[in-house]
Amino acid sequence: MNTDVEEIKSRLNIVDVLGEYIRLDKAGANWRALCPFHNEKSPSFMASEEKQIWHCFGCQKGGDIFGFVMEMEGLEFREALKILAEKAGVKLQSYSPEKTEEKSRTLEILELATKFYEVQLWKGEGKEKILKYLHDRGLKDETIKEFRLGYAPNGWRNMLTFLTGRGFKVEEIIKTGLLVKKENSGDFYDRFRDRIMFPIADYSGKILGYSARVAPGGDESQAKYVNTPETEVYHKSRVLYGIDKARSEMKQKDSVLLVEGNMDVIASHQAWIKNTVAVSGTALTQEQIGTIKRYTKNIQMFFDMDSAGEQATKKSVKLCLASDMSVKIVSLAQGKDAADMAKDNPEELRKNVAEALPAMEYFFQKTFQKFDKNKIEDKKKITEELLALISSLENEVEKNYWIKKLGEGLNIAESALTDEFKKISLKSKIRISEKSENIPEKNIPLAKKEMLTRELIGLMLTSSFAWKKAAEEAREGKFDLEDNLFSLMIEKGEKADFDFSVFMGEIAENRELSEKAEKIFSQKKYRLDLNNNLEEIVVEEPLKDFQLYANELLKENKKEELNRISNDLRVAEERKDKNAVMFLRQEFDRISKELAKL
Ligand SMILES: [Zn+2]
Repeated sequence: MNTDVEEIKSRLNIVDVLGEYIRLDKAGANWRALCPFHNEKSPSFMASEEKQIWHCFGCQKGGDIFGFVMEMEGLEFREALKILAEKAGVKLQSYSPEKTEEKSRTLEILELATKFYEVQLWKGEGKEKILKYLHDRGLKDETIKEFRLGYAPNGWRNMLTFLTGRGFKVEEIIKTGLLVKKENSGDFYDRFRDRIMFPIADYSGKILGYSARVAPGGDESQAKYVNTPETEVYHKSRVLYGIDKARSEMKQKDSVLLVEGNMDVIASHQAWIKNTVAVSGTALTQEQIGTIKRYTKNIQMFFDMDSAGEQATKKSVKLCLASDMSVKIVSLAQGKDAADMAKDNPEELRKNVAEALPAMEYFFQKTFQKFDKNKIEDKKKITEELLALISSLENEVEKNYWIKKLGEGLNIAESALTDEFKKISLKSKIRISEKSENIPEKNIPLAKKEMLTRELIGLMLTSSFAWKKAAEEAREGKFDLEDNLFSLMIEKGEKADFDFSVFMGEIAENRELSEKAEKIFSQKKYRLDLNNNLEEIVVEEPLKDFQLYANELLKENKKEELNRISNDLRVAEERKDKNAVMFLRQEFDRISKELAKL
């Protein structure tokens, strides 16, 4: 149990917290407002004092006070917690003071180190060779200063000597990643030597680590870029280069431009495309998408034309689509990168960005250009490539739209494609197929199953009877849902007294699941009527509904199993594997009978 979170929630009223940002009007038992997160003329944003949640029926955002402050101010949970703790007059206990102290010491060292590198660039050894290089790459002095670029001079102990001279202990400096331990000895030396330093900051501008480029004319046999290793403050899967300078523009423009490298970010920024970020030495991760989503759901990606770049981009695109983001692709002429173009022709760069194509459209065009749609073999390839992409879409309507579009393009009946689509998705599930298709299970089209799962969770969240019953049956192994929120509800149900509000307090730190819970709860509990008035939905007999939906779900599962078996059966028959055929037929009969009984 998190006492801090609960204490804060119990002391603050959601109406007061929200009221500092937006105008709320009383509407029956609840409060209404114009949603601050999307454009609207009549209010579809509501706050419930009783449940201490807010929800927008327009953009479907919602959550508790922490979520609201995070969304409004673009903060991490910890930061929102701090602000609200102060407002509530709660002293945060779960912060270990030593840990906080240690972290701030690490950040202090990194700040000092960054200043050291800056001085080396502007006044020291870097002045001659590095500044000229940066100017040649088209960077202006003020841009170099804004991004705090620096120079790590050649030598093994520059940073070590500087920092110990300032009174820091070696054990403290190690935690920043600035030092490397000498093998078989207790000695340490500087990690960054003769390199151009690109400091990587968090959203608020605090330096967490570096990406360091080999200096021009330096030892080119070394890696071109060396990054800070994982430390307590630097996590490469989380950082986004440039986020501190891009975030307000990301919010304002409601879009982000994802480029390949640090230089691309800086050059784009200088060319007045300020909503630009880059990942540092990784493919785009789920955590980074989470950060981006706090500011915008619209992402524009630069597309690298070489084939390794193409694979990486496709992977990132799929991840974004699966997170329900809207993705556009910016393509540049072969061999060009954003930094070059920003320097040579910023106008063209802006034009390219403005003309970015929605990702699906882009890949449709590309794929149809690459293959000859009149050849059978190529038809197959087009189908395979595009269906794999379509399967990563979150939205069923969109999925169907693109399947239809593909059918039209290839002159194939849509139904044939839908079958093919299911086959592609199922193949990865039944493991019988030789070639693994690498499509995650969750992408199998399961609209009905998802709908039923949601209904069941909604009933549990709005009725403690239903929740209790589900927990009992789950304990006896009679009932289960493949859903992470459901698992958490079963785990915490008793402790939360099967009560939605208590449960929300318990899981407040788990942002993903508490937002999901709020969403399902609000959609089950409230609706806007035709006159845009908020109505509470009353479920007369939650237990009866629960049984009904649970039964439906069971049927769906059985049907799915039958589907899978008949696919396996087909493969087994093709292979003339008599034993497998016999076994699968028996299974098919058994499950058919079970299904008939339901
Ligand atoms: Zn909204």
